[in-house]
Amino acid sequence: MKMSKTLVAALVCTSILSTPALAAKDNSINAIAPEGLSTSEQAPANYNPALKSANDGKSSAKGTEASIEVANPIIVLDPGHGGSDPGAVGNGIEEAAVVLDIATRSKNYIVANYPATVHMTRTANTTLTLADRTTFANNKGANFFVSFHINSYSTTTPNGLETYYYPGSTNGQKLATDLYNKLKANYSTLRGVKSADFYVLHYTNMPASLGETGFISNATDATNLKSATFKQNLAVAYAQGMHVYWWGF
Ligand SMILES: [Zn+2]
Repeated sequence: MKMSKTLVAALVCTSILSTPALAAKDNSINAIAPEGLSTSEQAPANYNPALKSANDGKSSAKGTEASIEVANPIIVLDPGHGGSDPGAVGNGIEEAAVVLDIATRSKNYIVANYPATVHMTRTANTTLTLADRTTFANNKGANFFVSFHINSYSTTTPNGLETYYYPGSTNGQKLATDLYNKLKANYSTLRGVKSADFYVLHYTNMPASLGETGFISNATDATNLKSATFKQNLAVAYAQGMHVYWWGF
């Protein structure tokens, strides 16, 4: 089809006009966080798709073991990266160290205040594959799983909070939303609750969420993430979000 001059002119015009608008919206980029996708590694041997589906609230099967609520949940906290993988690096800090600090604080708050058993995939600066993390959570029979991360981007403007769940997971979405609603008081930019096929969300047999609490590539977020007070606030917010998810308040 031959393009009319009017159409070509309109396209050029749209292109020119849209450039500044896109630049202004840099802070609301839709790119997903740079975390390991389900295609990164082989599925762990103890991944059980049927159990995952039932626990995620997608199965019609009622009265299964997976759907019975327990008073004292088993929670697995997963500080992302570590060891040979520092995660995102910028503004003088490394993601692996920051998320280990936040997750450890969160565990301490949970065990001090709630009747729950908490396991961490790592408690030091050690190297774990994605399969190691999901194998661990599946072996523990966790009721739910929370992975701690810090975002990054190729430019310095994007900042703020987002949480993720596995696409189609009803309970994962509830967990991600409950975490988000407690965490959001600490941010001026709220990027939303999103779904993504991240490995640790896909291959955990239980509802799972992954939090991206700020951008290491943004000066303000990074400054906050250097503050012990800020990290403690995030840790408590994570714990309170888990409490809402499990106990309903
Ligand atoms: Zn990460």
